[in-house]
Amino acid sequence: MSDRRICRACSEAYEYPGHQSLATRSHCEHCAPLPEPVRRAFERLRRRVDRLQREVAQLRAGQAK
Ligand SMILES: [Zn+2]
Repeated sequence: MSDRRICRACSEAYEYPGHQSLATRSHCEHCAPLPEPVRRAFERLRRRVDRLQREVAQLRAGQAK
């Protein structure tokens, strides 16, 4: 049985384990083969994007009042 997961590096949703997929427990098939330092950089950027998205959502909520 496969599971719906969110890639830790690029935030894409993917099935795990997928059929003939390189995906791992925490990374999608596109990010799993990347060299470790590159994936780490993606993870840092993803956290930053997540934070910015939350801030934008808060700002929008504030303007809606
Ligand atoms: Zn990915």
